[in-house]
Amino acid sequence: MSLKTDRNGMFIYGMTNTDELGGFLKHKFSEHQIQQAYEYLVEATEGEARDEKVSPLRVFWKHLKKVYNEGVPPLQCHRGCAHCCHTGVSCTQLEWDGILKNAEENGIDLDAVIERSQRTIKKVDEVLKANKNLDQVDWHRLVTNQPCPFLSEEGACEVYEDRPLDCRMVVAFRGVCESKNLEHAQRGVVLEEAVGATVIAKLQHDMTPKIKRRKFRGTQPIKLLQHWLILWKQKNR
Ligand code: SF4
Repeated sequence: MSLKTDRNGMFIYGMTNTDELGGFLKHKFSEHQIQQAYEYLVEATEGEARDEKVSPLRVFWKHLKKVYNEGVPPLQCHRGCAHCCHTGVSCTQLEWDGILKNAEENGIDLDAVIERSQRTIKKVDEVLKANKNLDQVDWHRLVTNQPCPFLSEEGACEVYEDRPLDCRMVVAFRGVCESKNLEHAQRGVVLEEAVGATVIAKLQHDMTPKIKRRKFRGTQPIKLLQHWLILWKQKNR
């Protein structure tokens, strides 16, 4: 394992590689634990969503929040300490739909969000138009050290209740991060994190009309928030 770890979890450095994170989590939790957590979360999430008439993803976020509130040492993260919001954040279609819903419910002007994020959106747009092999683009590097489009001037997340898994998995226990090096942030700390992406893929699968499921590839393609905003703009032109 090339990553530096400690007894609580994993340091943030070098953690943009999701394959490495997946490898670490498999090393940390047994197959049986992972399978059990996955099955429980899919079942509980879909059941509660039906009963409470909310989206399954919102129920899943509620479960994750509970785990972080009860299952680990107290988090040092607080409103306004937004160093982790200066890195590339990617999400699936389902998570993006959740952000759009949040924006609609809270009257967030996405045109204004795009306007203030011109710097990173332009970089992403240029790559999209350059006819490159998109699988080989280092998307994260394009936007790193720049504020996330949804970060307000007060350093708060405008879509906090519906922020994607990528944001939820970076947490700090040992102190408040004081720089964009995220010196206290860690990942790979709870079992629910190990199965999060798979649970989201399953929720997306179950919400896809049966006729379209044949195209479902088992995982969900992820895109930077800037990329989703470009697609949103094109659709709403
Ligand atoms: S979506 Fe919210 S929590 Fe995530 S990086 Fe952006 S501002 Fe921060």
